[in-house]
Amino acid sequence: MDQIKRKQKPLKVLFGASEVVPFSKTGGLADVSGALPLALSELGMEVKVITPLYRKKTDFEKTKPHSKVKIEMGNKKISVDIRQANFPGTGVTCLLVDYPEYFGRDELYSYPDDAERFTLFSKVIFAHLVSEGNYDVFHGNDWQTCPVFYYIKAENLSNCYSLLTIHNLQYQGVFPKEIMEIAGFDPSLFYPAGPVEFYGDVSFMKAGIFFADKVNTVSEGYAGEIRTPEYGEGLEGVLNEKGVVGILNGVDTTIWNPAADTQITATYNYHDLSGKKKNKKALQEHFKLRVTDAVPLIGMISRLADQKGFDILLESFDEIMSMPLQIVLLGTGQQQYHEAFADMQKKYKNKFGLFLGFNNSLAHQIEAGSDFFLMPSRFEPCGLNQMYSLRYGTVPVVRSTGGLADTIIDIDCNSIAGNGFSFSDYSGDALVDAIKRAVSRYGKKGWEDIVVRTMTSDVSLEAQARKYLGLYHCMIINSVVDNAVV
Ligand code: ADP
Repeated sequence: MDQIKRKQKPLKVLFGASEVVPFSKTGGLADVSGALPLALSELGMEVKVITPLYRKKTDFEKTKPHSKVKIEMGNKKISVDIRQANFPGTGVTCLLVDYPEYFGRDELYSYPDDAERFTLFSKVIFAHLVSEGNYDVFHGNDWQTCPVFYYIKAENLSNCYSLLTIHNLQYQGVFPKEIMEIAGFDPSLFYPAGPVEFYGDVSFMKAGIFFADKVNTVSEGYAGEIRTPEYGEGLEGVLNEKGVVGILNGVDTTIWNPAADTQITATYNYHDLSGKKKNKKALQEHFKLRVTDAVPLIGMISRLADQKGFDILLESFDEIMSMPLQIVLLGTGQQQYHEAFADMQKKYKNKFGLFLGFNNSLAHQIEAGSDFFLMPSRFEPCGLNQMYSLRYGTVPVVRSTGGLADTIIDIDCNSIAGNGFSFSDYSGDALVDAIKRAVSRYGKKGWEDIVVRTMTSDVSLEAQARKYLGLYHCMIINSVVDNAVV
């Protein structure tokens, strides 16, 4: 009865993520975490976001004290400050977990004590859920928040339903067994193929999948793929048992909108594409490429990781570069790719522009100034850049997998609804073939129609938020029904 009554009030949601725009960002998780909570709040929910305060990324002076919590980490008791800041221009609060010893470092991840760092983050989230006492939903994202799902069940935090969103199953938070004690997992959970055990280690992601009320991922395509051994990263069994819903990410058009983007040379819209040409010129100048509209410019913005298809790109790079085109690449990540692309840049000075690093405004300029956007991913949970590209009239060329398959329809297969070019085989040859098909269309009859069609593709954030609202209600209603049956 109480649950039914509470449904009439706005749902109170705590959204936990290890990176959130505008406070920190390494990839798409941050974009989603900075946009979806605001869209949920516009649908009438009371949403708060919680994330670490990375003092090297977030201006401490722009945050205010919120509360203090006491946390046990093994036999250590520590006091942690929670600070707060509003998302700019909104009344939505972001809670920032301030523990400089763990989060005051140069980077967000990849430290030897990541297990402890995000265990602490998860414990602070749980302490906040308990102290507030009236959250209806905890919505956690990726392995960094996964212990929270266990704490909610173990401590029987009643009436708080939990949803885990998997943004990338490849990153699971797998640590040696010793973390069991600090994480506070019951030792009885660790046995071969048990809820937290993963080939002799502890997997935070597996624990999250096991203990969350519901699990979803960021596209329907990826939701199907991760239930198979090819993409399931060893967790396909538990995912099949649990069930996974796919909800496609949307685009935050307050940030990614060519008609109002303050980070590009010239704004434009699909009625008047002249600004796009100015952006192309500026981009060519920036990278010291020949300034010309006679050949297409292909943009790439990406973490330089195996997942993103750089092996097949490098394998076919010489052949691609022999075509009438230019490429610009903005990325940072694995050293082997830094080196390989730096070599390619020396080889193709006039045709290939490279920036190795993270640069948000350059990312906007590449979206605006390129004719095509290339994502040859081996797998792609959702992918945001192909959707930003659609908004910017930058025709995507993608490998058809996960969210890329859900959002990009090949123009040669469907001349009416097509909004990009795609290929299926994960091979250099298939990639070259797709680029050839794309380049052959550039500047020809019908080219502007293609650009306009991409710009009018539906990539709405509101549609995404409504689906999450539905999922929250579904968790609550299922539980009311289950309790009634009991
Ligand atoms: P993933 O989350 O797997 O990295 P997505 O396509 O979902 O991939 O999201 C990547 C996000 O990170 C996009 O907003 C993209 O523009 C941004 N991004 C990636 N690499 C860089 C970079 N080197 N500089 C600036 N932005 C980047």
